[in-house]
This record gives sequence, structure tokens and C-alpha cells, in this order.
Amino acid sequence: MEVERKIKALEAVYAVYDEFARTQAKACSPRCTTCCTTRVTVTTIEAFKVRTALFPGEWSRLSERLSAHAGIKRFRPRLTTNTLAALCAEGGQPPPENEEAPPIPCPLLTEELCSIYALRPFNCRCFTSRVPCAREGTAEVEEFALSLNTVCLQTIEHLDSDGCSGNLLDVLAVMDDERKRAAYAAGTLACGAAGLIGNRPMRVLMLPPEHRARMEPFLRKLREIRV
Ligand code: SF4
Ligand code: SF4
Repeated sequence: MEVERKIKALEAVYAVYDEFARTQAKACSPRCTTCCTTRVTVTTIEAFKVRTALFPGEWSRLSERLSAHAGIKRFRPRLTTNTLAALCAEGGQPPPENEEAPPIPCPLLTEELCSIYALRPFNCRCFTSRVPCAREGTAEVEEFALSLNTVCLQTIEHLDSDGCSGNLLDVLAVMDDERKRAAYAAGTLACGAAGLIGNRPMRVLMLPPEHRARMEPFLRKLREIRV
């Protein structure tokens, strides 16, 4: 799928999720940033959208932040969501994840606000909790919301199945490199060489049986986007 069509499809997935999120009672707000850490992962299409939507001066500031934090330890996933789904469907055992260092605040925070809030990737949009995490020590999320999060992540990866995934900072750094960004837009970016992992199409949904009926209207909307 060409990159402009992917962006439109990505925005449509965000819209489906946002419609659900508006119906949820939640403690989350733009100034609540306990969950903003170096653990966030993202697909290439989401980072490409951030790169191309920001004005040059805004991107320069973000690029400076990426460079200043280039050496920090961060979570680097071994598997994408669709790879994990396929592995589980085959009865396989996922490898242990890389947990090199405790998470630290996301370098994209400026004065306790996300500097790309309107453009933040799905994994930042779906941080939702009924209670403030800072007060309670942990998030409290409805099980169905977790299932919808997973289905949306699987759909986004499917839309970007010739792209890659990785830590937010790593994928943004790839988009900061003109040559790699052009390779991504042309569908020729080598994920491994760029320090990322390859996306794959969605072949099986990670959806508990008890959520299937309630999920059906969302699946219908998401299927329409994938066409
Ligand atoms: S998930 Fe927790 S830390 Fe993140 S915005 Fe919501 S309440 Fe705040
Ligand atoms: S990109 Fe923004 S919303 Fe996401 S973790 Fe970083 S500061 Fe938080």
C-alpha cells in the first residue's frame, strides 16, 4: 500500500479507537505522564506520519532531542504483535523480552507535556486507566479495552506490513535519516539493518472468546479500513 493511503488508513484506525475511548471513564489527561516512558513501541507508518506532519522547525527540535538521547537504554521488542499472535496460534512459546534497563521518562516530554501529543502513536493513545497511575501505582484498565488495543495494534501493523516496528525513539531516528525515510516510502527499507523488526500481515486475531460478540462492530469498521 502506498504511504499516503497508509496514513489515511492509520488515521481511520485512530478514529475508530478514539470513538470508543470517548465512551470510557478514565483518569488520563495530557498532563498525566507517568506512563510516558522509553518502553513505547511504534510502527514505521506512525513515525513517518509524525515526521511529515511536523513543521521543519518542530522536527528540528525533535531531532535534537533524539540526538541528545541517542545513547539511552530503551526497551527494544523482539516480536511484533502479529508475529506474537502467529506464534501463539501455532502453540509456540514467545522468547523473553529485552528488559535491559528500567524505563525512564520519554525524551519527547517537554515541561510535563508530550511535544507531539496530537500526533502521538497508537501505543500512547491507548494508555488508559480508570484510576490515576501515579496515585494507585498501576493502571486499571477494562479487559475489553485491552482486547481492542491489541486488535487495533494488529490492524495498524497489517496496514504497514511491508514496514517495521521498534522502540519509538529508534523508529523516529530512522525517519530522521532522509535516505532511510525515502527507502521506507518506496517500500524497500531493510528493517534488520535499520535496527528494527519486520512487520507482518494479520493472519490470526488475539481476541478472547468472551470479547468476540462485543468486538464485532469494531471489527467491521476495521475491516472496511483494510480494504
Ligand atoms: S494510563 Fe495512567 S499515567 Fe497514563 S495518562 Fe492514564 S492515568 Fe495517567
Ligand atoms: S510520545 Fe508523547 S505520549 Fe508517547 S510516551 Fe512520549 S511523551 Fe508520552
